[in-house]
Amino acid sequence: MNVLGILPFARQLLQNVVSKGDSVIDGTAGNGHDTLFLAQLVGEAGRVYAFDIQETAICKTKERLLEHNALTQVTLFQKGHQEANGLVPANVHGNLAGAIFNLGYLPGGDKSIVTTPETTLKAIHDIFLMLKKGGIIVLVVYHGHEEGKKEKAQLLDYVSNINQTDGHVLSYQFLNQKNNPPFIVAIEKR
Ligand code: SAH
Repeated sequence: MNVLGILPFARQLLQNVVSKGDSVIDGTAGNGHDTLFLAQLVGEAGRVYAFDIQETAICKTKERLLEHNALTQVTLFQKGHQEANGLVPANVHGNLAGAIFNLGYLPGGDKSIVTTPETTLKAIHDIFLMLKKGGIIVLVVYHGHEEGKKEKAQLLDYVSNINQTDGHVLSYQFLNQKNNPPFIVAIEKR
């Protein structure tokens, strides 16, 4: 396949805007793959603020970071991303280069613990305000499960109504794949 798949495209978007020394957010640490990717992009001079409400996710993420010698530049919060506004230091507000969210449930974990529309939208609202000009929020939307369908609908409604003078809002998806494959919504601050 010559077009980028969903996860490579999500990473490409982040890579375009995140440099060494930057501050970024992983809104859903999960198994820590994106936290590690971001930690490597920002390097030791940068900072990743990573959130997950599940202890197992925070532990897995920490282990992965330690394995790759990348824990020093990461702050892990076992807290909901909807609390980011109060937890991310004030000097980062207005200077954030990027953020990523993988919505849905933790792969291999408890499928009843999922991201929810209200908290996801609050986090996006607050984190959008933290972005610097040109900064990007990337959302990978998993919508195969029942809760995910509602979250997808509310998310699309919310981002479609962001004023075009405030942000560029993009969707990237394969239209002919079966079984509700994940797709990307990205918001770039103007
Ligand atoms: N569905 C994706 C991975 C999603 S992981 C995939 O298949 O690859 C989603 C993570 O979000 C889970 O680890 C879950 O614990 C976490 N989560 C759920 N609600 C959250 C919240 N309010 N704040 C932060 N993390 C949350």
